[in-house]
Amino acid sequence: MVDNFIVGVDLDGVCADYVTGFRRCVAKELSIDPLSLPPITQWGYDQWGLSFDDYKELHRKAVQEYHLFRDLPLLENCEKVLWRLSDAGIWIRLITHRLYTNWTHQVAAKDTVDWLDKNNIPYRDICFMGAKSEVQADLYIEDAPHNVDALREAGNQVIVFDQPYNQDLSGLRAKNWLEAEEIILAKAAEHNPVQTKLPGLDVASTRLQ
Ligand SMILES: [Mg+2]
Repeated sequence: MVDNFIVGVDLDGVCADYVTGFRRCVAKELSIDPLSLPPITQWGYDQWGLSFDDYKELHRKAVQEYHLFRDLPLLENCEKVLWRLSDAGIWIRLITHRLYTNWTHQVAAKDTVDWLDKNNIPYRDICFMGAKSEVQADLYIEDAPHNVDALREAGNQVIVFDQPYNQDLSGLRAKNWLEAEEIILAKAAEHNPVQTKLPGLDVASTRLQ
């Protein structure tokens, strides 16, 4: 039986540029210039003057009325690297907490799957859940500080996908998808090592005349 190496891949902030898409929606909804909303360098949206309740309501509107998840920009090289990893036999398991807001599930799930198809992203399965450590992946790639901490506390290996709001996190880190590819391939090789010498056989030199 093939023992597939499973990579748990987060969507927002790892495959999709959530902050850019959300900025567009917030600017439209509040009738302001998107450039008046500063870069997000801390987790949350305090830097845009939004309370947690403001954020939740704007996020709900963005998902339901502006189809945020259908139109998010794709992060560079994401789909190319995921195809190469998939071709190498690595199991791509997408994990997302996008059903976080009540009453938006149909549009969130549909727009997510449409977006994945439109952007040609390969995956074997997709989990819509908040408790990410319960999906059983060998390695995770994640941007949210609280998710990285929770996954690591549960004993998982996690690559931090570099974002301005997760600079305080230590450990494995990929600045982009090309760096992530190198780390994932190295971890997959550790998991399924190539056997360089079959047990019980003499050194290879005696096989050649
Ligand atoms: Mg994320």
